Amino acid sequence: MRLVLLGAPGAGKGTQADLLKERYGCVHISTGDILRQNLKDKTEWGLEAEAFMKRGELVPDDLVVRMVSGRLRQDDIARGFLMDGFPRTLPQAEAFDDILKNIGQPLDCVLLLEIDEEVLVERLTNRRTCRSCGRIWNLSTMTGGGEICPACGGDLFRRDDDAAEVVRNRLKVYREQTAPLVAWYRNRGMLQGCDASGTQEEIFREIRVTLENHDIS
Ligand code: ADP
Ligand code: ZN
Repeated sequence: MRLVLLGAPGAGKGTQADLLKERYGCVHISTGDILRQNLKDKTEWGLEAEAFMKRGELVPDDLVVRMVSGRLRQDDIARGFLMDGFPRTLPQAEAFDDILKNIGQPLDCVLLLEIDEEVLVERLTNRRTCRSCGRIWNLSTMTGGGEICPACGGDLFRRDDDAAEVVRNRLKVYREQTAPLVAWYRNRGMLQGCDASGTQEEIFREIRVTLENHDIS
């Protein structure tokens, strides 16, 4: 399968991508994860992206497009891919179309995870990630004090950009720059909506039904 996961920050793209990857064996490409790794490794890309990410703004299109273009030219893409966090602007969507044409790998569909903004703010500010296994948790639904990973005992931390003011800015950026992609993909007949307000399992079930109904595997 070749999918784009579209949706506001906190809609659950990363979690659903993990579940889909496990079930369908495709490659998960998260531009946010790639950028955070570059930041950690202090690469040239990381240094260029840092200030934008700290403010919850988008990093420049040309940087992200170069990054994705390189990634899509690796051999494992033959297994199919899930794009998570890309494209996020119209210029990125247009550049992505060109890349896909060049490598002869057209998209199956764009899955839109739909959810209210109030729920998103709550989810993002309560979000914790495990330093050891990378699992994502929510303070309000997990057991324990939120410091230790229930799965592996590793330390939990909050991403810098999940602080309340930055979250509000990321949602504004989504509304202004990314939301127009919904109409853009809908006009091309590629958009499939899924309700993303339920539990991880409920959302995953709905996504599977949508994919099965369209013979995507
Ligand atoms: P979320 O979806 O939770 O906001 P991501 O992990 O997808 O978080 O992205 C984190 C940050 O990385 C974004 O706020 C932005 O600064 C940067 N980023 C990720 N993907 C893109 C992209 N496609 N275009 C521009 N900036 C991006
Ligand atoms: Zn863990």
